[in-house]
Amino acid sequence: MPSRARLIRSACLCLALALAGAPVAAQNGDKPAGPAPAVAIGADLASQAGTTRLTLTLSRAVEARGFVMERPDRAVIDLPEVNFQLDAESGRRRDGLVQSFRYGLFAPGRSRVVIDLAAPATIGRIETVTRQRDGAVLLTIPLQRADREAFRKAAASGDPRPAQARSAAPEPTDQRPLIMVDAGHGGTDPGAIAVGGVFEKDIVFGFAQALVGKLESGGRYRVRMTRDRDVFVPLAERVRLAREARADLFVSIHADSISAAPQVRGATIYTNAEKATDVESARLAERENRADAAAGTDAAEAPPDIADILQELTLRETRGFSSGFARTLMGQLAPVMEMSSKPHREARFMVLRSPDVPSVLVELGYLSSKHDLEMLQSPDWRASVTGSMAKAIELFFTNRATLGRPAVTRRSAAAAPVLP
Ligand SMILES: [Zn+2]
Repeated sequence: MPSRARLIRSACLCLALALAGAPVAAQNGDKPAGPAPAVAIGADLASQAGTTRLTLTLSRAVEARGFVMERPDRAVIDLPEVNFQLDAESGRRRDGLVQSFRYGLFAPGRSRVVIDLAAPATIGRIETVTRQRDGAVLLTIPLQRADREAFRKAAASGDPRPAQARSAAPEPTDQRPLIMVDAGHGGTDPGAIAVGGVFEKDIVFGFAQALVGKLESGGRYRVRMTRDRDVFVPLAERVRLAREARADLFVSIHADSISAAPQVRGATIYTNAEKATDVESARLAERENRADAAAGTDAAEAPPDIADILQELTLRETRGFSSGFARTLMGQLAPVMEMSSKPHREARFMVLRSPDVPSVLVELGYLSSKHDLEMLQSPDWRASVTGSMAKAIELFFTNRATLGRPAVTRRSAAAAPVLP
């Protein structure tokens, strides 16, 4: 649960971002409207090992430059005009090298932060990063403890903008592909249950965790899970999480069970289609789609009206990528595990209905098969299969880089900041 303070901060930021996005009303009738100043809604101090960092939370990136002055010892940060919406106590908190600080409009179109230093310090490299969660920009000014002589030299250098204190260009946001790993079921919904009482939700969660570990260890992807513990997450919520995070790939992990046919074995990869490839696939999708009802929630909310959100083209493109990934995955899994008689099938799965996130659902095997159940519980098997999945994901993104990513269309279509 987010704290109340965090909710308030988010609300403030939302407002600040909205304000920042609106152009300033034209003045004197004929003056053209310009962009509104960046809004500062937070100022935080943190100290560690001779360095104190002042971090401003801003509605957008601004260029900052800093210099130091002696008698009294100060660090000065010059900014373009910033609308400071900080709480009154902000500048009064003493922390490490910072005695206190003041801020405000310094000249038309220029703002300034003046930091009273508790000890001589120089300004390190000013950094700007964009916070993924909500698009806020964090401007960090590091102050490093210096001896009196070095400080005096810096103050007397006559250069109010020492090169190293100039703001770096805003760092690009993390561009690595985002993979959403969806462990099926959870909490009050156990999924399929094996003869010995093993739950699908536990088997698939263990597998999903191993897959996440494998993907993260390569460092090439950002990885998230729709659930990170034994908790119920409605199907529509899983779709929403993937779309809101702008995932580049959604992989849902399940394990089926057919008690009437304990000889049936092997993995199947499903992609979404209105019309199922066969009767069994349609029945399976129906079973999986009942997850919400099993957990005692209302029927899943209606999927987004695709026609309203994105053009048919994007949807088709997404489907193409989903099928392409399913085939790649099949190619990687077949050598290391038992596959079902028809390993790529289609059916109408609620959880695969993101119009803009390539999505597949993998049924790893059958809990009703003694062989499959043994495999599913073997750490060696798990390591080998997650390794092959990671390889398939790598191939998928390599091919996509050559073909061009539909994500570009999607990103520009959803430019609004995503709030938690
Ligand atoms: Zn399932």
